[in-house]
Amino acid sequence: MNEQNQAAVREHHGRPSPREASLAADVPDGVDTVVALGAHPDDIDFGAAGTLARWAEAGVSIHYVVMTKGDAGGFDPEDRDGMEARRREEQEGAARAVGALSVRVWEEADGHLTPSDRLQRDVVRVLRELRPQLVLAPHPERDYERYQRSHPDHLACGEIVARAVYPALENPFAYPELQEQGLLAYRLRHLWFYGAPAARENRLVDVSAQLPTKLLALRSHLSQHPDVGAMEAFVTRQLRAQGERGGLGLDVAAEAFHATEVNTAETIAGF
Ligand SMILES: [Zn+2]
Repeated sequence: MNEQNQAAVREHHGRPSPREASLAADVPDGVDTVVALGAHPDDIDFGAAGTLARWAEAGVSIHYVVMTKGDAGGFDPEDRDGMEARRREEQEGAARAVGALSVRVWEEADGHLTPSDRLQRDVVRVLRELRPQLVLAPHPERDYERYQRSHPDHLACGEIVARAVYPALENPFAYPELQEQGLLAYRLRHLWFYGAPAARENRLVDVSAQLPTKLLALRSHLSQHPDVGAMEAFVTRQLRAQGERGGLGLDVAAEAFHATEVNTAETIAGF
């Protein structure tokens, strides 16, 4: 960590200026459990593996939820039948590298993810089981600067999560069957989006120390990388560019997020 960034972290513990408050190097107050959702195996690791590794090191419980089987991924036309199992194993390996406690891979078909009441209820169910204070999801808005970030499954996943956390997650009458199963409604504080359009980014996390872990997690998704060296160089360049854009310095690797608060101390009740 360089001097400039150490100063920013220190400042964050004291009375941060608005600019320095945006450098959320540490775990937000009151967060001990994080659930990260993604559309495909590897999305969470591209978007947030460094931050999740950093928070896991700080003692936060990390859980992965992947909505599709990733069955349309990869490059090998001979290995279509094995792709689903392979990608599940790759995701489990990556999550292990990050320090996550659990990985759930759902059965949705890769390329066909669509917001639905069924999936919204599934998200409410898993969040009420794990009860995170912070949820991570892909950004639901299309990035017109980089279409590859905005795979329709990514946008759908972000939309499903955003719909689920308000109001259904906190409304005991939204899915009474969940409430009856003891999966009780609660209010979520933080919803952070990765893969956000640049204009939406408002939080940077310094992941310089976790960059090797992030690359290890990404290497685990071997079926997705025809050229591992090029992928690693791209990711490293991108993280350093984000650090530089955020004023952290040239040698700082940073993951960028659009951080939102679903509920704060000022939020009034009501559906
Ligand atoms: Zn994806």
